[in-house]
Amino acid sequence: MLGAVVLFGPPGSGKGTQAKLLAARFGVPHVSTGDLLREHVAAGDEIGREAQALMQAGRLVPDELVERLVEERLSRPDARNGVVLDGFPRTLEQAESLSKLLKKRNLDELVIHLKVDYNKIISRLTARRQCPKCGTLYNLLSNPPKSDQVCDRDGSVLIARADDREEVIRERFRAYEALTLPLLERFRSSGRRLCEVDAGCGGPEELAGRIAALVRNAEARR
Ligand code: ADP
Repeated sequence: MLGAVVLFGPPGSGKGTQAKLLAARFGVPHVSTGDLLREHVAAGDEIGREAQALMQAGRLVPDELVERLVEERLSRPDARNGVVLDGFPRTLEQAESLSKLLKKRNLDELVIHLKVDYNKIISRLTARRQCPKCGTLYNLLSNPPKSDQVCDRDGSVLIARADDREEVIRERFRAYEALTLPLLERFRSSGRRLCEVDAGCGGPEELAGRIAALVRNAEARR
């Protein structure tokens, strides 16, 4: 049983791309709190209305709200054997909540820290595009679509995320450094299993291969 693989790293470190690749390799769902929130924003429901302004400003949405979304998602049958988590936990409070949740479900936790240089991230994020229909991610520099700005899978016109503007990116980094980075120390001191990976080099598939090897290694040592 895989358990919960937590992809941890700054905005733009490639968590979403890697989470999709790894979830497919391991046959478990990819759970992204950013994607779950964006679905609510698109639906215009109560959760979406609460989250939208905060997300557009690059700030975190309240712990209690994302914790509820994750709890609901983990309780579905397809998450029984494990998940790849992307963008959660992001605060100390969320980390505690996740541990409790996983204990209740008898799932182990493995944190993968994706380390990338900040300058690289800014150029990555401003070139990032996504298909509004199927969610496929592209990068105009490193992973462009076959024909200009159009999704390879379904032909939709690609869009940039509303929070991928430079001033919002800066705010997302501030939130990351103030609220999320301290989690690494907590992970280390509380004895959680933590692996570091250099996510600034190699292509997405090559990086996914390295992460998958780390995960298998960690499983074998369990
Ligand atoms: P990135 O990691 O590139 O910032 P995400 O899609 O993970 O992108 O998150 C986008 C936004 O969604 C965040 O800036 C934040 O406003 C909100 N968000 C996502 N996950 C969480 C979380 N676990 N806690 C609080 N806010 C979150």
